[in-house]
Amino acid sequence: MFELENVSKVFSGVAAITDLDLSIEAGRTTVFIGPSGCGKSTLIRMLMGLIIPESGVVRFEGQPVTAASALEQRRHMGYVIQGGGLFPHLTARGNAALMARYLGWPENKIAARAVELAEITHLPTDLLDRYPIQLSGGQRQRVALMRALMLDPEVLLLDEPFGALDPMVRDKLQTELREIFRDLGKTVVVVTQDIAEAAYLGDVIVLLRDGRIVQRGTIGELVNHPAEDFVGQFISAQRTLMDTLKDGAS
Ligand code: ADP
Ligand code: MG
Repeated sequence: MFELENVSKVFSGVAAITDLDLSIEAGRTTVFIGPSGCGKSTLIRMLMGLIIPESGVVRFEGQPVTAASALEQRRHMGYVIQGGGLFPHLTARGNAALMARYLGWPENKIAARAVELAEITHLPTDLLDRYPIQLSGGQRQRVALMRALMLDPEVLLLDEPFGALDPMVRDKLQTELREIFRDLGKTVVVVTQDIAEAAYLGDVIVLLRDGRIVQRGTIGELVNHPAEDFVGQFISAQRTLMDTLKDGAS
């Protein structure tokens, strides 16, 4: 679905992505994981052509993603930005319908699609006319997901979709989201900082550090055949925290 070749991006002298090669397979869930600032959001934005690399090429379904082509290519991609990014002055329905309205869909088609998506994302339809401030964090994320799914894109790109949620809501949404991914058969890219979430959602995990890929593989490959010390350190850092908490509790 995506091919990245020798891709680099520098922000005012700081390398965000360095000489990166990656292919992302269709119909599967790929997870970008790594420490804060390692380039996960930059990478997901490059897939959409929101950031154009200084060197190298990003291809979507074989076609280079350029400033000129990105707008059309982006119609095949649904994006949930880090933090959700709902417009506060639009209702849930208005947020979800944004792209469809822009493309001139008739209102009855938009209304029908909104109900369909509320069902898929398990958002009660009576919440569709509320503003984001009148919704819980979990409900807002469902609306952000509805917005991303509105045009029935082949690709779904989610940047830390559970970042700000409390653990119970997060757990529930993770479970539901995995079912949604399976049912819809989309190509999905998810950014997370949580290794358990990566293991749960990802068919393929891409571990990044300082704008480079440390390892790409299944969770089993990362755990059993770490490419370098950092892989084990990253995984066990989160596991150690859990063990410490368990020890403290017993
Ligand atoms: P992550 O999502 O993994 O936390 P980002 O992709 O947001 O990381 O950022 C990667 C690096 O690029 C960081 O050092 C960040 O400060 C820098 N960066 C990202 N976006 C910009 C920008 N628009 N301007 C300047 N620096 C940026
Ligand atoms: Mg980020």
